[in-house]
Amino acid sequence: MCGIIGYVGQRAATPILIDGLHRLEYRGYDSAGVAVLSEQGEIDIRKREGKLNNLLTLLESAQPCDGTLGVGHTRWATHGGPTDDNAHPHADCDGRIVVVHNGIIENYQLLRQQLIEGGHVFRSQTDTEVIVHLIEDEYRAIQQRDNGDSSFAEAVRRALQHVEGAYAIVAFCNDDPDLLVGARLNAPLMVGLGEGENYLASDIAAMLAHTRTMLSINDGEVVAVRRGGVTTRALDGTLIQHEPFNVEWDADSVTKGGYPHFVLKEIHEQPEALSHALVGRLGKECVSLPELQHLDFTKFDRLALVGCGTAFYAGMVSKYYFEQWARMPVELSVASEFRYANPVLNEKTLCVFISQSGETADTIASFRMANEAGATTIALTNVQGSTLTRGASAVVYLQVGPEIGVVATKTFTAQVALLALMALQLSVQRGTLDRQEAVQVSDALRKIPQQIGELLKHSDEYKGIAEHYTHCHSMFFLGRNVGYPIALEGALKLKEISYIHAEGYAAGELKHGPIAMLDPNIPVVAIATASQTYEKVISNIQEVRARQAKVLAIATQGDRNVVEHCDDVIYIPRTHELLTPLLAVIPLQLFAYHIAVMLGRDVDQPRNLAKSVTVE
Ligand code: GLU
Repeated sequence: MCGIIGYVGQRAATPILIDGLHRLEYRGYDSAGVAVLSEQGEIDIRKREGKLNNLLTLLESAQPCDGTLGVGHTRWATHGGPTDDNAHPHADCDGRIVVVHNGIIENYQLLRQQLIEGGHVFRSQTDTEVIVHLIEDEYRAIQQRDNGDSSFAEAVRRALQHVEGAYAIVAFCNDDPDLLVGARLNAPLMVGLGEGENYLASDIAAMLAHTRTMLSINDGEVVAVRRGGVTTRALDGTLIQHEPFNVEWDADSVTKGGYPHFVLKEIHEQPEALSHALVGRLGKECVSLPELQHLDFTKFDRLALVGCGTAFYAGMVSKYYFEQWARMPVELSVASEFRYANPVLNEKTLCVFISQSGETADTIASFRMANEAGATTIALTNVQGSTLTRGASAVVYLQVGPEIGVVATKTFTAQVALLALMALQLSVQRGTLDRQEAVQVSDALRKIPQQIGELLKHSDEYKGIAEHYTHCHSMFFLGRNVGYPIALEGALKLKEISYIHAEGYAAGELKHGPIAMLDPNIPVVAIATASQTYEKVISNIQEVRARQAKVLAIATQGDRNVVEHCDDVIYIPRTHELLTPLLAVIPLQLFAYHIAVMLGRDVDQPRNLAKSVTVE
């Protein structure tokens, strides 16, 4: 899940690589490194375990790393601990070739053994290092034969034919000071096009400060990137043409804009982000996602919703929408299970795959499986040109700008809002929802951005409440109906950024086990908003209070009754019952944020996590 950046141009490469690594650090932060090719043809590699700051200290303490071509890497370790030696870039035996890699080489043990037998010397425990030695062998083999332009790129293509698993790589060789070679298979890599300079990176955000013109390459392709242009070939050498495209995000969208953390900025961006997500899709009288207009929803007999983590919870909220409004049977799955479960998929199945990055490995594998089975696939993602968008029957973009904080916030609310729109569009076409209710839901949805704005004004109040809970070692989050996925998401936010153990539960399930855990030191957060199950949730609150657990309730404005059942209350504005998650999640995001900050946690880059999970 690491981040890769490559630059070839006229300017000093190191500052560009470091700036790119800052943008990519959310993907992994076990180590960071750069390799730059000097004017004299020497390769200067600097790398350090730990966060990017350690690399910066190293770079400051030594001679500058000069050159106008180079690669950078920030690592999320899969094979070999987070040490200096295992940090990328990795070099071949003679120090003439370097590689940075994102992914996992599954047959690396066999390859490593063969390469060692062939005389190669390994300096790390990573799976990655086999790639650079394979390239070294292939390059040596073809060097004599072909002095032409493409020999190093060809060596990379040939080396990759031995490799099984997932990779995005960027490599260069000191023989060709004008060439970066990139390749991908089941891991993201984009090309950024400039004037007399070009880039390669794991994501668009790392290149946005320099260019908004991008080019996507596909799995199984190798791209030769030079100052003057770009050539893409398949592994067998066949030439491939790709059209560049312009991204809509601007360079400011990847800065903190005055907030202490990206997470806080992204929480506060939600009113604007949601308005943007809904623009042109939620008219006065009708809901319409133009992206879905070509699909005939009457032909499907089943819907599969697939995602991981927060995206899965967004899908879980929308299960209620699709079932209630569109009367469509819904199967909800985490992608890592779906892909191995042999689910029943055919041309009557509609599948929605939800992934912020569009690069989540398990989601993509599930998506490919559904495509092969003849299902209709909708990709719901935030990133233009990402893998999930290729081959989908329809693509719906969140349109909320880049999300840099590792934990998902604005993309969750946007996913829920867009899934609500999809469900409405399906219901209208299938004739399952009466017009009056469709109008009611649309009206309520239209008010959500402004209502989120109201909630955000209470951030300090939530901070005051959060203070009462910072000492806890464990917490339970309970909810029913659409409150249930919000309990799960609230618990996930808390554990991700504060490292406090938290469990989300369907409130009715509590007495089937977890209630045994409760004591005065394990507080409960209850989603007790106005709903058909309100009274049931109040009963569940009483059950936990009878075990002396402290209770924080999320309730609807005007509810005086709830006060006597809990220790703290956070009120949210009234909305359509099924849209409550869009509001109830906001105080829970801030609750987790404030606790994490008070505990001194790294909220933008929580330990062990990476934003875009591009490995299985
Ligand atoms: N497998 C490589 C390593 O452990 C790359 C990991 C990644 O993609 O984050 O160094």
